[in-house]
Amino acid sequence: MRVTNRHQKPTLSVPASLPLPNLKEKEDVAEKDHKRNSGRFKILHSIWQDMLEHCKKEHPYEACGLLSGKDGTVCTIWRMENIHRSRVSFEMDIDEIRRVFELIEKKGEELLGIYHSHPTGRPYPSKDDIQNNNYPEIDYLIVSLAKPKPVVKSFRMKRHKVTKRRIKIIS
Ligand SMILES: [Zn+2]
Repeated sequence: MRVTNRHQKPTLSVPASLPLPNLKEKEDVAEKDHKRNSGRFKILHSIWQDMLEHCKKEHPYEACGLLSGKDGTVCTIWRMENIHRSRVSFEMDIDEIRRVFELIEKKGEELLGIYHSHPTGRPYPSKDDIQNNNYPEIDYLIVSLAKPKPVVKSFRMKRHKVTKRRIKIIS
């Protein structure tokens, strides 16, 4: 099967590694990370729908955003601006990220995921997605709009190791 992937130009994700909201001590994070890795990426159905709508709305450009929640379940979506306004790459504004991180912290939530769309590409991280990911401890969701029905996959990326994660949509 031939997969058309026009997602080739540099794709920047979150431009710099800011401290994550509600980031606790290292051991705590490692333990949480272990717990999360063993489970699935959990997201409320309404947020899932919102994310798909955002990606469709931005089409043919790449959409991007952040997902936060409590107890490992995503319950808040933060639609972010793609400052590239590009069909093949995205980058979030560092000040917007900072503001959203503050709001996540205020809500007592934690960052659980980053999403972006591939308007014509497959739902798999591009070389640049892998290279530019600064947050190995959270999920990286890719919404592919290459087919009439959107396909979403979730990954964890640590250095160059990509691990697929199962998604659980909670209604
Ligand atoms: Zn990408």
